[in-house]
Amino acid sequence: MYQAFLIKYAEIAIKGKNRYLFEDALVNNIRYQLRNVDGEFKVRKENGRIYVETEGEYDYDETVAALQRVFGIVGICPVILTEDEGFDALCQRVAAHIEEAYEDKHFTFKVNARRARKNYPMNSMEINAAVGEKILEAFPETSVDVHHPQVMINIEIRPLINIYSRELPGPGGMPLGTAGKAMLLLSGGIDSPVAGYMISKRGVTIEATYFHAPPYTSERAKQKVIDLAKKVAAYTGPIKLHIVNFTDIQLYIYEKCPHEELTIIMRRYMMKIAEYFAKQGKCLGLITGESIGQVASQTMQSLAATNEVCTMPVYRPLIALDKQDIVTIAEKIDTYETSILPYEDCCTIFVAKHPVTKPNVEFIRKSELKLAEKIEELMETAINTTETIMVEAE
Ligand code: ATP
Ligand code: MG
Repeated sequence: MYQAFLIKYAEIAIKGKNRYLFEDALVNNIRYQLRNVDGEFKVRKENGRIYVETEGEYDYDETVAALQRVFGIVGICPVILTEDEGFDALCQRVAAHIEEAYEDKHFTFKVNARRARKNYPMNSMEINAAVGEKILEAFPETSVDVHHPQVMINIEIRPLINIYSRELPGPGGMPLGTAGKAMLLLSGGIDSPVAGYMISKRGVTIEATYFHAPPYTSERAKQKVIDLAKKVAAYTGPIKLHIVNFTDIQLYIYEKCPHEELTIIMRRYMMKIAEYFAKQGKCLGLITGESIGQVASQTMQSLAATNEVCTMPVYRPLIALDKQDIVTIAEKIDTYETSILPYEDCCTIFVAKHPVTKPNVEFIRKSELKLAEKIEELMETAINTTETIMVEAE
């Protein structure tokens, strides 16, 4: 029924000379998301608008789902394109559209006509009035409300006539590739995939680092993280994932440091190693799934202690979200079911019975002095034996 989609994006963000960069990125990202959808698509810019045109048969639901994964899109309007075959034919097209698209006809509407082509025999006001009348005739349950219509029926007279009234929500945000790159610390939990998604939604390209601790964490736990990366990649595009073997560092910390400080010290080394790969990959920041007070290692004191070892900004988009809010997003982006699979992560194995909740950075530094003998060498080995893979959406 629809031959095209009109793509709406937030224009406030893109005033000025960066506008074309933003739009070109959006066009490319739309093409990328549509690459595996059944159908032939043409994506083009026209007068500050982006159109996705279809050719022949295509899968409507898949197309909409793909467009709803493109950051930067705020609305998707399915459009009927029709030849100009006179005013009566236009009214019939509009009526057929209302018949099909709205099961319940008890709504208020307004017709909003625009002439991009001035040789049309009626002006916009005349089209509004005449089409409105025809709609009222065809569907007596409807009524007109020019101030707050429930349904806005847009008719644009261009070389072809465009009819659209529905706007499906897009994800919002900024087009991928317009904001630089950041390194996500990706674990198998609920939070970090959501954190990666949120930062990526602002246009940021994502790399990821996972700390694996075989044999304490299984191959299945590693596969789970790869599966999560695949799910996130459905939005962010391919993710370069660094899988760091963290076992020896963890065991060494376990051997040398007070057990109640284990998690914090371990976190500090994770941040350092993630930052190493971040610098190598020209990332501008780190991303974690931390949220104030969620667990002992995420009190403000713990966050301060973890943060201290980083020289890059650490982005924590979940910092003020409640768990339920995070779960809601995880469900929306389809990572939740994977995240709750019950495979151990390295943090649950080396977890102390009574972890410090208000670590003192001075004490932590002092404890870390006990690692002086071997830690540099262990970090170097961990870095040199890291496995790096590209993860793509399925
Ligand atoms: P998540 O659900 O993301 O695992 P969490 O509530 O389990 O979070 P923690 O285990 O305290 O929280 O981890 C806090 C953050 O540290 C995570 O969100 C993630 O960014 C990072 N992190 C924790 N463990 C790992 C790991 N094994 N590999 C990579 N990053 C990790
Ligand atoms: Mg975790």
